[in-house]
Amino acid sequence: MPLNTVSDKAEKPTQPPKDAPQEDVRRTPIPERPNEAAPNGRPKIYLRHWMQIVLFAITVAVGVQFALFVHQVENVRQVTIQRPPGVEGFLPIGALMGWKLFLSTGIWDPIHPAAMVILGFAALICLAFRKSFCSWICPVGTLSEWLWRMGRRTVGRNFQLPKWGDLLLRTAKYTLLGFFVWVIFKMDARGIFGFLQSPYYKMSDVKMLHFFTRMSLLTGGVLVFLTIGSIFIRNFWCRYLCPYGALMGLFAMASPTRIRRNAETCIDCGRCTRDCPYHLPVEKKSSIHSPECSGCLDCIQACPVKGTLTMETAGLRKHGWTAAGLTIAIALTFTASVYTARITGHWQSRISVMEFRYHLKRIDSPQMTHPSVSGKRSAPAQRMPGMGSHPPMRSASKGMAKP
Ligand code: SF4
Ligand code: SF4
Repeated sequence: MPLNTVSDKAEKPTQPPKDAPQEDVRRTPIPERPNEAAPNGRPKIYLRHWMQIVLFAITVAVGVQFALFVHQVENVRQVTIQRPPGVEGFLPIGALMGWKLFLSTGIWDPIHPAAMVILGFAALICLAFRKSFCSWICPVGTLSEWLWRMGRRTVGRNFQLPKWGDLLLRTAKYTLLGFFVWVIFKMDARGIFGFLQSPYYKMSDVKMLHFFTRMSLLTGGVLVFLTIGSIFIRNFWCRYLCPYGALMGLFAMASPTRIRRNAETCIDCGRCTRDCPYHLPVEKKSSIHSPECSGCLDCIQACPVKGTLTMETAGLRKHGWTAAGLTIAIALTFTASVYTARITGHWQSRISVMEFRYHLKRIDSPQMTHPSVSGKRSAPAQRMPGMGSHPPMRSASKGMAKP
């Protein structure tokens, strides 16, 4: 398949027109690769990159804490490590089900409540600042970005699929999202409640851990393929396969925030388009409406004419977002979401260590296979004397027993 290349090499600086007036902004000298390197030759690290580094480190810490917790529950009588709720950020399908249950019955999923909080936060910041969850928060997005930047530095370029191939592959993530939404849409509240109460869902975070710790050859092969793809093609996973990103893109379409270009001061150098991780034609548009725009600000940082590109929110037009402003807004929203959920009891799972241990011992049993999600009620939750199983539903129309 023929591939277009996105070169890492700096293009020749655009010359200002000879008859341009002295004060014309087009006379501004254009530095070489302004978005790439600091004066010491190292890559520039912007605020967004620092936020990505911090959140990636937190994610790794959460993963390690969860692995240690599972190890203790499996092997030690006295468990001293707490189960970190943040691990539920990797359960987006359960979170979607939880939100449907909450919106139709008012019941907040007591099994993996943090999954709902994280999905809600992601949707909120994408509504406010386009698909910013993907470029500011998501650890998978961060890893993808590190891989393509590494590829560009080592190979000297990234590759771009031809337009038809790119469009065809981009439908994959929407197809995946459509499938999950269709399955969840078909389920009634009773079916969702049954699924969320099932031993399978209670242990879905452990199953996810085992995905990495008990990796099959096929899983390993797929991960190697995705890693290689991500080195050569920018945001390979996010651009083509991630249904979470597809959902965030839909929220972003309703966002009042846009990247805007001032055609009066633009010198058509094309650096914004060159540096956009999603290959959006910024240099040709007056504003970017694409659901792919992740609000990463790379185009603004690449633009040599200050003020030509801005990220603006309708109603706040005179105050384009700076990287610092966006960092503070996203960090505050994140902190407020998590602490509100903690204080109000919507963050910690209600599964006790005893119940967790009970299910963990049976993690490989047939009881732990995926329950039916065909709209029929799933197998009822296990009732164990003294182990805090959850109350059954009363009626689908009147709502369910509150957790
Ligand atoms: S570079 Fe600009 S247009 Fe491209 S995704 Fe980032 S913010 Fe959006
Ligand atoms: S908006 Fe894009 S094309 Fe115009 S000056 Fe800035 S980087 Fe160059």
